[in-house]
Amino acid sequence: MELNVEDMIKWFGLANEKIQENKVYLTKLDQPIGDGDHGINMARGYQEAVLALQAKEYNAPFEVLKDASMVLLSKVGGASGPLYGTAFLKLSMEVKVKEVLNLQDLANGLEAGLTGLKQRGKSEIGEKTLIDVWGPVVDYFHKAGFQPDNLTESARKAMENTKDIIATKGRAAYFKEKSIGHIDPGSASSYLIFEALAEVIKE
Ligand code: ADP
Ligand code: MG
Ligand code: MG
Repeated sequence: MELNVEDMIKWFGLANEKIQENKVYLTKLDQPIGDGDHGINMARGYQEAVLALQAKEYNAPFEVLKDASMVLLSKVGGASGPLYGTAFLKLSMEVKVKEVLNLQDLANGLEAGLTGLKQRGKSEIGEKTLIDVWGPVVDYFHKAGFQPDNLTESARKAMENTKDIIATKGRAAYFKEKSIGHIDPGSASSYLIFEALAEVIKE
């Protein structure tokens, strides 16, 4: 498995399609335990990112990731913009210079992204945030016998597990015990992003 510049652009394109299709769903998830804008924030940011990536020529995956992260930082707004922006920037820095990314590069890059998320969000695993999807996904990348379908499956399970968690970070934390029973919106958008990555890897 090796991902090049075109694959990186495909990843953002495919993730964007999924986010646009699920814009209303992501926003609905953000209504009972947030302010009902996650779908709007993500749809705007990813649309802008895809447009920016189309307008330029790239020589290495890290350049694509860096540009996308800058757009997400500046266009998403809310908590999720700086978080996703940081995650993709750290991923970009970790794989700098490499012209193609293999499984190990992706595992290390996503792990750097996860570390960035924790620092930026001042949060850990188990607080009902997108970190609860990134954590298990990074673990899965480090496991032997990687399969794209299993990547999707582990991300989906991790997203569903956020239902059972009491939120202790972000807007959802204001709802305390009432946050139980709801999927975390950021975990749902991260699931879509990793589902898209699995599909690009599979091609
Ligand atoms: P906002 O809450 O500012 O309206 P969004 O609705 O776009 O921003 O994003 C909310 C998501 O951001 C949450 O579902 C959660 O996954 C993530 N999030 C919020 N705060 C934090 C944090 N401190 N650490 C990690 N993730 C967080
Ligand atoms: Mg919100
Ligand atoms: Mg908001």
